[in-house]
Amino acid sequence: MLNLLNLKPADALSFARSLVNRCFLCDSSQLHVIGAFQPDHPAMWLEMPVRQGKARALFYGLCRRCLKKSRRSKGEIVEEKLLALQAVERQATVH
Ligand SMILES: [Zn+2]
Repeated sequence: MLNLLNLKPADALSFARSLVNRCFLCDSSQLHVIGAFQPDHPAMWLEMPVRQGKARALFYGLCRRCLKKSRRSKGEIVEEKLLALQAVERQATVH
């Protein structure tokens, strides 16, 4: 697994851009920023266990409109949507 902490910032950004091409909140292809969400409890979000001393991050993009949409923390908004998607996924697998 690639360790982003070992990359130069420009290479880390290039890697993140290769993974993200749509706004996470509205699906626009006009990205303005790319963020990384590093969950406090990765097992809650990821199927694969995370080894001791390692971390996992989920990358997301936001368009300019969604970035300006709210004064709330964008991390909070993205986490809220991730939780909602996870709840829908759990419901779909239960039925
Ligand atoms: Zn958007």
